[in-house]
Amino acid sequence: DRLISATAQPDEAAIDRAIRPKRLADYVGQQAMREQLEIFIHAARQRHEALDHVLLFGPPGLGKTTLAHIIAAEMGVNLRQTSGPVLEKPGDLAALLTNLEPYDLLFVDEIHRLSPVVEEVLYPAMEDYQIDILIGEGPAARSIKLDLPPFTLVGATTRAGLLTSPLRDRFGIVHRLEFYTPQELTAIVQRSAGILGVPADADGASEIGRRSRGTPRIANRLLRRVRDYAEVKGSGHISCDIARRALVMLAVDEMGFDEMDRRLLGAILEKFDGGPVGLDTLAAALGEERGTIEDVLEPFLIQQGFLMRTPRGRMATAHAYRHFGLSTPGGDLL
Ligand code: ADP
Repeated sequence: DRLISATAQPDEAAIDRAIRPKRLADYVGQQAMREQLEIFIHAARQRHEALDHVLLFGPPGLGKTTLAHIIAAEMGVNLRQTSGPVLEKPGDLAALLTNLEPYDLLFVDEIHRLSPVVEEVLYPAMEDYQIDILIGEGPAARSIKLDLPPFTLVGATTRAGLLTSPLRDRFGIVHRLEFYTPQELTAIVQRSAGILGVPADADGASEIGRRSRGTPRIANRLLRRVRDYAEVKGSGHISCDIARRALVMLAVDEMGFDEMDRRLLGAILEKFDGGPVGLDTLAAALGEERGTIEDVLEPFLIQQGFLMRTPRGRMATAHAYRHFGLSTPGGDLL
């Protein structure tokens, strides 16, 4: 498995629960969003109302699920969790909704993958706390309205652009999660190291933080692998030197790029002369799925200025040429 994959791996669930921040005050970074949420939550609690529906979007591993749990904790309500692909039939969603306690939070991960018939159940549920249920079949079928308790829907998606506009319009609070700065990631590494009881220097933590692809989940995973290295090759203490050596062994480079990032940029530079190259062609050349390239690999490379999306396809930037030690076509012009 890809070491720096931003998606959760099955064996990480228990450790994830232990180090996941539980309250807004422990949630590192995303400051503008945090300040706004604090106010909205406070106001909703004061009015004894459910918080307005919240849409969180951004690449995997940036803290959407964590935030949904935090919102529930701050509101003092239960969280029910499901995901778009799990809700196959309208009845699946109706069953979940009718079982909610007043003010509960329903977290729907990968909300862009809801089927259209299931999505239609959500519209009146979100807008009026009602659902229409179809009883009977054929000409005798009739629909009845059921009242739901007030609830908050928190939807998470990797890209807001994948949502239909009627669904997107029904969220009162919409936030895009940004990649974290190296300083924020260092703080996350230090916090997790504290919880896990791993001694780490500020320099060691910062070495991990700045090579974590802007992603807390990757920072936490690298911390665990560096801890292994420190325990076997050193005294268990994570110093700058130990962190650096461990990351070299793990093939995570100075920019935090791993093998997959280098393959993607390498293919554009070498096979396609720097681009532009269409996404499907690129996916075929790499043997990767289009969605993985778009949602997992590209956002960080674009944010770091190594890759551009243009109408004619993906292009490597001068930054990418330099990173690979290649001279840019057109010399200084690029
Ligand atoms: P997503 O749902 O966006 O894929 P998660 O919420 O599962 O991401 O976050 C991945 C892991 O990263 C969590 O287990 C949590 O420990 C850590 N994490 C995410 N965001 C933060 C944050 N702002 N501060 C501290 N840790 C975080």
